[in-house]
Amino acid sequence: MNAIKHSFFVICCIAICVFFAVSLHAAQLPKVVIVTTGGTIAEKTDPKTGGAVPAVSGKDLIEAVPGLAKVADIEVVNFSNIDSSQMTPKIWAKLSKVVDDRLADPKVKGAVVTHGTDTMAEGAYFLELTLKSDKPVVFVGAMRDASDVSPDGPANILNAVIQACSDEARGWGVTVTLNEYINSARNVRKTNSTNVQTFDSGEKGYLGYIVMGKVIRYNEAPSRQKLSIPKRLPKVVLLETFAGDDGSLVRFAADQGAKGIVIVGVGAGNVNAQVYEALKYAMKKGVAVVVTTRVYYSGVWPMYGDQGGGETLEKSGAILGGDLTGAKARILLMLALAQEKSKRGQLKQYFKRRSG
Ligand code: ASP
Repeated sequence: MNAIKHSFFVICCIAICVFFAVSLHAAQLPKVVIVTTGGTIAEKTDPKTGGAVPAVSGKDLIEAVPGLAKVADIEVVNFSNIDSSQMTPKIWAKLSKVVDDRLADPKVKGAVVTHGTDTMAEGAYFLELTLKSDKPVVFVGAMRDASDVSPDGPANILNAVIQACSDEARGWGVTVTLNEYINSARNVRKTNSTNVQTFDSGEKGYLGYIVMGKVIRYNEAPSRQKLSIPKRLPKVVLLETFAGDDGSLVRFAADQGAKGIVIVGVGAGNVNAQVYEALKYAMKKGVAVVVTTRVYYSGVWPMYGDQGGGETLEKSGAILGGDLTGAKARILLMLALAQEKSKRGQLKQYFKRRSG
């Protein structure tokens, strides 16, 4: 009996020691909050339809990442589980507050947001513009769903957590990190609808790279701007012009009460004469107009002086959107309109070209 009591006592001691060792180890690990929102990374192929659908919880996502518990003490926040085609600026406003709340905790070193790749560039940019915290926030996702032969999600999550804890990643603000490449939220674009190497920042280049568990720093973050999240986001529409466009959609948007119109022009930011007239009609109604371009590099310049050229558009009161994509210019215009309700003249400064 004593022998049994003795070995039971020994086993208990060992168990207690192991427990303390594990919690001590976890306590010494940096704390990272993973906020899950959905996307392919949390989707599985529905055997009935053959299409990918939301299917994986935050807990399952984390448990599928080997070695994660050795890198950081992870806290999971299940924010949503939607395909990012269903995301809205209103949801991003809520997400920004949730992430800021968790980053306000001094124990938390950084955050990772799992998100669908379709609208990840805009979602990341929304948080880049609105987060108060300066701690690293890493947007991550996957191009292959969780039931794929070789899902890219787990490796992307591990790298994102490594980045969120790394001092090398300080001062980059919000980034989009997939397939080991780190992009700034401002310059990143999705460039391939199926391949794992889909995100890049074009002529601005990557911020860094992750290899063998280490963050390699290439570039500093583009200069940053911060705007507060308004109670209500104004209605801003995004329209892409095309050869033969008669401007009717611009007039319709203005008549439907849009507070802002982002027009994706051609070349260095040009539209045809009919669209130019329609934009002037909208501006006369008090609608703010921002011009971007469908062209990948260099962006918009006041280079052309005919009816609808960038120079005439700017002279008529339209704002040239620099090298922002149409979708990001829409986000910036929504937030800027809410800041500058009355002072329209102030809007232009938000779109001024910045370094990086
Ligand atoms: N449709 C998916 C999404 O954006 C694509 C992905 O995550 O790769 O949510």
